Amino acid sequence: MNRPLLALAALAFLGLAADAPAQDPSRAAGTKTKNVILVISDGLRWQEVFSGADPALMNKQDGGVADVEVLKKAYGQETPEARREALLPFLSKVVARQGRLYGDAGNEGRVTNGKNFSYPGYNEAFTGFGDPRIDSNDKFANPNVTVFEWLNAKPEYAGKVAAFGTWDVFPYILNRERSGLKVVACWEPPYGEGLTPQEKLLGEANASLHRLWPDCGYDAVSFHLALENLKREKTRVMFLGFGETDEFAHAGRYDQYLESAHKFDGYMATLWETLQAMPEYKDSTTLILTTDHGRGDAPTEWKSHGEKIAGAERIWVGVLGPDTPPRGDEPLEPADQNRIAATLAAFLGEDYNAYQPKAGPVISSAIARP
Ligand SMILES: [Zn+2]
Repeated sequence: MNRPLLALAALAFLGLAADAPAQDPSRAAGTKTKNVILVISDGLRWQEVFSGADPALMNKQDGGVADVEVLKKAYGQETPEARREALLPFLSKVVARQGRLYGDAGNEGRVTNGKNFSYPGYNEAFTGFGDPRIDSNDKFANPNVTVFEWLNAKPEYAGKVAAFGTWDVFPYILNRERSGLKVVACWEPPYGEGLTPQEKLLGEANASLHRLWPDCGYDAVSFHLALENLKREKTRVMFLGFGETDEFAHAGRYDQYLESAHKFDGYMATLWETLQAMPEYKDSTTLILTTDHGRGDAPTEWKSHGEKIAGAERIWVGVLGPDTPPRGDEPLEPADQNRIAATLAAFLGEDYNAYQPKAGPVISSAIARP
C-alpha cells in the first residue's frame, strides 16, 4: 500500500474522516471540560477508599506491619469516616464532596473482564470493553485502539495526549509503536523536545535509583515527570499510572501499602492545585481516578487478586471537575470499568461509543448537562 492510501486507511480504521473540520466538540456538547486526566492506582482496594485503614490488617500477623503503634497513630482512628479522612484526605474531603466517588454499597462498580488483574483491567479502562485475548501481563502489543490513541488521532488533540506510569507494560498496553503516543514508563528516561533541567534530573535520578521491583518504578518519579510534562506541553489528555499500592500489597506489607495510598492521595491534591493555578487548566479540567482491579479481603486474600479471589472484581471511581455535580443524596449508579473510556471522551464532548460500540456507556450522572 502506498503512503497516502495507508494514511487514509489508518484514518478510516480510527473512524475519522480525512476532511473532518476542526471544531470545538465540548462546546457543542455543552461541557466545560477541555482537558481530562485519568489516574489509576494499581490494586488500591475500595475498602480503604471508603473506610480507610482496615483494623484487621493493622498488625504484624496479617498485615506485616513493622511498627504497629506508629501506623495506628497515623491511620487507626475510631470510625471508618475518620480513618478514610486520615488516609485519603483529598479523595474523601474533595473528590467525594465536590465531585463523585462511586463504588460503595448500593453502587458497586466492577471489572467486567472476569480476569481481575492488570493488563486486562487497563485494557478495559482504556478501550471500554473486556477482551478475552488479553489474558496475561506479558509484553505484547495491544491489538485494540484505546481512547487515548483515538483522541490523539484527532487534529485538536494530536500530540497533546501523553501517558506516564511506573509499569513497564504500559508502552505495550497503549501500543506506543502504532499509536505514536508519548508513553514514559518505569525506568525509562523522559523523551521529546525541550525537556527542562528538572525533567532531565528526574530521568537521571530514576536511572540510578535502587530498583525494588524490576518491572515497576516509583510513583514519585512518574508523578513529577507527568507534572513537569503537563506544565511544559500543556497536555490535554493524560494517563497517569501508579504501581506501588499493588506491589506492596503483594509483598504483604500493609503499612507500606497504606503509605503509598496516602502519597497517591497527596499527589492528586498537588495535581489539582497545580491545575487550578494554570489558566489553561483552571475550571476546564476533569480528573478521573480509579483502579485496575480490586483485591481480596482480610486476613489473607487482600494480598492477592485474580479470577479466583472473591471480591477482586470490585473497583471504585472518583470524578472531579467543572462538569461533575457535587454528590447529593440521590443514589449513584454502578461505575463499571468498561464505562471509563466513553466517560473520559464524553467530558471532551466526544462520542466514543459511536466509534467503539463494544464500549460500556457513559457514567451519565458524572456529567451535568445544561
Ligand atoms: Zn497485582
